[in-house]
Amino acid sequence: MENKKNNIRNVLEKRNKKYRRKIKLRMILILLIGISIIFLVLILSKKEEKEQNIETSSNVEEENQVLEAVISKKKERKIDDWRLVLVNSKNPLPENFNPELVYIDKTRQVDKRIANELSKMIQAMRNSGINNIWVQSAYRSIEYQKDLYNNKINEYLQYGISIEEAERLTSEYINKPGESEHNLGLAVDFNNVNDDFKNSKAFKWLGENAKDYGFIMRYPEEKKEITGVEYETWHWRYVGKEHAYKMEELEMCLEEYIEYLKKN
Ligand SMILES: [Zn+2]
Repeated sequence: MENKKNNIRNVLEKRNKKYRRKIKLRMILILLIGISIIFLVLILSKKEEKEQNIETSSNVEEENQVLEAVISKKKERKIDDWRLVLVNSKNPLPENFNPELVYIDKTRQVDKRIANELSKMIQAMRNSGINNIWVQSAYRSIEYQKDLYNNKINEYLQYGISIEEAERLTSEYINKPGESEHNLGLAVDFNNVNDDFKNSKAFKWLGENAKDYGFIMRYPEEKKEITGVEYETWHWRYVGKEHAYKMEELEMCLEEYIEYLKKN
């Protein structure tokens, strides 16, 4: 009886041992699988992070490109203000340019948008005792500018100089057709179109007051290199009061001022 009991105990103990070993093995297996899963998750998340980094850097590049495009567009930005239209040897008017004109006396015309300010300015000069003032030249059609330019060249050619020299001398004071502000209708020449004008009361008055009527001396002596035109005391261009004031404050000619506006 005792023997039988012992036998049963032995068998049970053996079974227990086997069972515990099985459990141990299972736990080790589960532990290993768990560690593997954690590793796998870590590796995958690292990979995703890397991919995301690549994506962000390409996004930044794209954004930079967009930004650059905006900046360059801003640089090329057109100044839409009609008062600031730039006409010079680098910016000629199209052949078919046709401003809306109005007569300021029997023969002379200007762009109708400046006629009022021009006549107010001349009246103010007269009111302050300057009677010796008149508009010698205002709007010129491109056709008329052609005649003026060619006549001047022919005049020079009579002195027996070369055509190149005649053209050079002519272009110092007469712009090529389409390259003159007179073709625009926004500029006038006063009195005899002569250097003596700088010694006149009228010139002094204009220097102090023309900006109040929106006019500027378009070709100052110290800006010859930029405007490409000799010092012209008699040539006054309308740009509007606020631009005239700003240009004086910045000491800029129209070419410089337009560049300044494009950048700011
Ligand atoms: Zn002029």
